[in-house]
Amino acid sequence: MKHNFGAGPCILPQVVFKEAAEAIVDFNGLSILEISHRSPEFVAVMEEAQSLVKKALNVPDGYSVLFLQGGASLGFTIASLNMMRDTKKAGYINTGAWAKGAIGEAKAVGIDVNVFASSEDNNFGHIPKGYTVPTDVDYIHYTSNNTIFGTQFHAIPETSLPLVCDMSSDIFSKPVDVSKFDIIYAGAQKNLGPAGATLFIVKDSILGKSTSEFMPKYLNLKNHADKGSMLNTPPVFSVYAAMLNLRDLVANGGVEAVEVRNQAKAEALYSEIDNNPSFKGTVPVEDRSNMNITFLLNDEADKDAFDKLWNNAEIVGLKGHRSVGGYRASMYNALTIESVQVLTSVMSELTRSKG
Ligand SMILES: *Cc1c(COP(=O)(O)O)cnc(C)c1O
Repeated sequence: MKHNFGAGPCILPQVVFKEAAEAIVDFNGLSILEISHRSPEFVAVMEEAQSLVKKALNVPDGYSVLFLQGGASLGFTIASLNMMRDTKKAGYINTGAWAKGAIGEAKAVGIDVNVFASSEDNNFGHIPKGYTVPTDVDYIHYTSNNTIFGTQFHAIPETSLPLVCDMSSDIFSKPVDVSKFDIIYAGAQKNLGPAGATLFIVKDSILGKSTSEFMPKYLNLKNHADKGSMLNTPPVFSVYAAMLNLRDLVANGGVEAVEVRNQAKAEALYSEIDNNPSFKGTVPVEDRSNMNITFLLNDEADKDAFDKLWNNAEIVGLKGHRSVGGYRASMYNALTIESVQVLTSVMSELTRSKG
């Protein structure tokens, strides 16, 4: 059994893998891979997945839950197209590679982007603060958790304008006040399910209000909401496995309980990083992510010894992203505290072995 610290596609509960595997062989006498997405069996899966999202995140009335394709990367485009209004301007916070991706796609659809806050001059090593949120734009966009750089917003930016958030890598890791947002989107493969589906939680009152002249049918969220997320063939298997994962999440105390477990895991690893003289973190304490934890060796000469230790301990996916270097421990919901303890013990072992 390996300890999967990979950044995504991510670890999911074993029970989800098992039930999903069983449904590939037999789902009411057919395989989940061959059933019609219009069959009553799959319509029930889609409806249960949507209602579990609403239950888990306490989504207020007046929002639609959609499972689309294209990943968060197409979400960048979809969000900007659907939020374009009279000014054709938008305010973006630039906290890393994914935020930059979102900025690029907003520009590509013709939005005049005002990057009013950025941590680029510090290689995205912190969450920007003390910025002034523009008021002459159609909407504000930010990335709640920066998967690559190990930073996370611990408060929602204050604005009275429509707010859009890419929550790909921390959705369902803690409670979130959905009423503050007009669009939340997230690729499934970070904390929700297998790759293939992209979750949108959309305030119904924004639907059909875009001023964009360019609006292909698939990119218009209203068309998806009007059809109950069945405008075309949805990613059937990904939605099914996400539904199983959400069932498991809700049955185990929901996002309130998982937040407590995630905090305990993050504290265990940050405490090792801070107290072990062989390692250092890359992010100031107040901006640290509970999902993706980045750290470096103090002495690069330890690299081979440390890599050997964690590889021997059956840890996978720990290598840092090339833009930060070092190590990144992604600790999505299904990663257990026992796996984190295996990691902290090999970190201690490294220091002990140096005498
Ligand atoms: C992984 C990731 C993306 C890209 O997701 P895709 O589904 O691969 O397009 C976007 N934003 C964040 C925050 C991510 O972690």
